[in-house]
Amino acid sequence: MLKVNEIFYSLQGEGRNAGLPAAFIRLSGCDRACSWCDTKDHVFGVDLEEERIVHAVLEYPTRCAVLTGGEPTVQPIDTLFMTLKAAGFWIAIETNGDNLLTLPFDWITVSPKAPFFTQRTGDELKLVYLNEDVERYIDENPNFAHYYLQPCSGRNIPETVAYVKNHPRWKLSLQWQKQIFIK
Ligand code: SF4
Repeated sequence: MLKVNEIFYSLQGEGRNAGLPAAFIRLSGCDRACSWCDTKDHVFGVDLEEERIVHAVLEYPTRCAVLTGGEPTVQPIDTLFMTLKAAGFWIAIETNGDNLLTLPFDWITVSPKAPFFTQRTGDELKLVYLNEDVERYIDENPNFAHYYLQPCSGRNIPETVAYVKNHPRWKLSLQWQKQIFIK
């Protein structure tokens, strides 16, 4: 049983997989309280059995699922992962990296909210840019395939573009879903 905020079908708007049609499973709750968090409304949720969650996403034409939050690792996600896998899904997770992942996700996005975090490998490290020097995140975490900087709620796009241009190990991640007014 997991506390689920929402399940919906959309396009990934961020990072390397931008444009990918996927079923989003947004779990409730997070153990941090970032001031810029755009998921404050996502603390609420309903308890759903894992089989019901998978039944819901099987209604969509995709077999790509994104487990997100909130912070999905604050809940026991093993059974959901295995049930999705048994149904043939490619599974991505978006996590703040506070908790070590023990499941073989197909795509791991770590968005740390402080320099010290636990999950230090993955497919992409995606940082919200707060107009600070962030080169240490790459130097101290070489085991990611991609490094993305994302403006903070769209407020500092020029500064983020300038930083990426001056520090080209990073790539720009825009929240495309907000630019084109989709969920
Ligand atoms: S870690 Fe993510 S979900 Fe949690 S408060 Fe921060 S931005 Fe929001």
